[in-house]
Amino acid sequence: MSKLAIHGGRPVIDSPLPAYHTLGPEETRAVLEVMEGGSLSSYLAVAGEFFEGGAGVRQLEAEWAQYFGVAHAVALNSATSALYAAMGAAGVGPGDEVVVSPYTMAASATCAMIYNAVPVFADVDPETFCISPDTIKAVLTPRTKAIVVVDILGHPAEMEGIMALAREHGLVVVEDAAQAYGASLNGRPAGTMGHIGVFSLNYHKTIQCGEGGVAVTDDPELALRLKLIRNHAEVVAEDTHVANLVDLVGFNFRMTELEAAIARQQLRKVAALAAQRQANAARLTQALNGLEGLIPPVVRPGASHGYYLYALRCDQERLGVSRAAFVAALRAEGLPAVEGYVKPIYLSPIYQERIAYGMTGCPFACPLYQGSVSYAKGICPVCERLHYQELFFTNAIHAGLGPGQIDLVAEAIRKVHRLRAELA
Ligand SMILES: *Cc1c(COP(=O)(O)O)cnc(C)c1O
Repeated sequence: MSKLAIHGGRPVIDSPLPAYHTLGPEETRAVLEVMEGGSLSSYLAVAGEFFEGGAGVRQLEAEWAQYFGVAHAVALNSATSALYAAMGAAGVGPGDEVVVSPYTMAASATCAMIYNAVPVFADVDPETFCISPDTIKAVLTPRTKAIVVVDILGHPAEMEGIMALAREHGLVVVEDAAQAYGASLNGRPAGTMGHIGVFSLNYHKTIQCGEGGVAVTDDPELALRLKLIRNHAEVVAEDTHVANLVDLVGFNFRMTELEAAIARQQLRKVAALAAQRQANAARLTQALNGLEGLIPPVVRPGASHGYYLYALRCDQERLGVSRAAFVAALRAEGLPAVEGYVKPIYLSPIYQERIAYGMTGCPFACPLYQGSVSYAKGICPVCERLHYQELFFTNAIHAGLGPGQIDLVAEAIRKVHRLRAELA
């Protein structure tokens, strides 16, 4: 007979849940070792040993490749840098289109523009929120060069179907698994199913080193191109005898020895951290079973979910109250909850105003671009419906929480659901 906290009742979660924290004495020791060694980065932009960085970076890459079962791992200073380098490695250029998701962190859609290519948005699947073989197929044109698929919120995209489509059309696939540590599809880890996979080590991710990213691939040529773009390609290309000079204008995307040392320790923890998230999410889903108008995260057959966030969908009609009122009541109960994920990316000003490079409208109005992409409201109706009406999420399933806290999270949601008529 409790009263909703939003109406003055006692909140279910009456002290803030602990923040997610993965750093321990192992990371501190590893950083101190680098400090005492005195070499914080060993990169040189010349062909030879230090073109690939210092010992720590190379050890991280070897361990990463082994853990994920791939031939090559390339460490960079962020996943954004990894996505940019992936577009360059793929040979994306002016006049090309790259199929991307509208429902992701901005860089995984915008990366194509670094090479003056045009992002084309495919709609998302209503259950996994990932772009799918069908939605990608619907936007392919003769100009499509690559696809950036995101395993968003931690659920793997339908990579088998997407790779089949890519083979049929000769496209390069980049799988952005920044949020998908611990996820897999039919036994293959998320991030290893595209031609290039991308992971993030930024502060918010399942594992972190402050800022950092890793690109993986089984293709030796793509690996070399990623490494060239990471480290001033244009000055190294001659001495590395690369034949294909396309997109070899280099950057400095190098990771330092400090981040590499932290990342190596974090990699040792990733399996346990992801498993705890999965156990927490499974417990929560079990507890929310059968609540009218609320749909817990779907996990497709053959898939395991990384649960970067725990997303619920609501059917406002069946729920009988608005999502906004429901989420406000959850927050009053002490549960960190947010409506929607990110605004559909094509609705942001860079796409709406078509202003990116300089004043001449490149890449959208570039004379080399023969297509006519649309960024109008309504091009991805599923994404818009999810974002503006159905989806809300919480991060309160992370590995810093135990069963007792998950039970409180469940009780907060069940309480608001039970008393929701009072919100109407
Ligand atoms: C975090 C994130 C990125 C970017 O990662 P950074 O390392 O911060 O550059 C890219 N894609 C997705 C899906 C992300 O969640």
